[in-house]
Amino acid sequence: MTIAVYPGTFDPVHNGHIDIATRAAEVFEHVYMAVYDRPLKTLLFTTQERKTMLELALKDVPNIGVTTYNQLTVAYARQLGAKAIVRGLRVFSDFELEFQMALTNKKLASEIEYVCFMASQDYAFLSASVIKEIAMLGGCITGMVPSHVAEALRAKFSGPGSDGESRVGLVSLRD
Ligand code: ADP
Repeated sequence: MTIAVYPGTFDPVHNGHIDIATRAAEVFEHVYMAVYDRPLKTLLFTTQERKTMLELALKDVPNIGVTTYNQLTVAYARQLGAKAIVRGLRVFSDFELEFQMALTNKKLASEIEYVCFMASQDYAFLSASVIKEIAMLGGCITGMVPSHVAEALRAKFSGPGSDGESRVGLVSLRD
């Protein structure tokens, strides 16, 4: 069986991630969505919340599973018996980072391929940080995330005195 791992922070999962995951599931026999437990960035959702949102978003795709991990991605991919690591490419700036990660991962595990899917035109503008900022400022995120994720974002930002400032890296939408 050809197994792939699609690793990421998924804080939270959005329609761009879902698009890449479902397309990868047509190419590979099994795809593990692997939620990285401790990235070097500030998170809004816990690991369990991020996992549960992914599970709900992809429940209709039988050959996609959702897991969490807290080790080197290539080590985890090996553990799962994966032949490929899947990533999504939106813009040129993604390419630089992904290319560096691909070369690094190849050095660490030469038997695992790094496969980048091009973002679909409809979702190329989406990023989790922009979506969090829109939600925090009360904007409409319909069509960007599944409805249960929109609901979870609303719940996070509707607490008394919580506008998420401490946990959401602002991009520019406030200006
Ligand atoms: P990271 O893993 O860099 O913290 P994410 O978890 O948000 O970032 O994203 C996981 C993967 O999904 C990355 O390869 C990222 O480039 C890709 N991705 C993010 N947003 C989109 C999108 N709108 N369309 C396609 N791929 C995307």
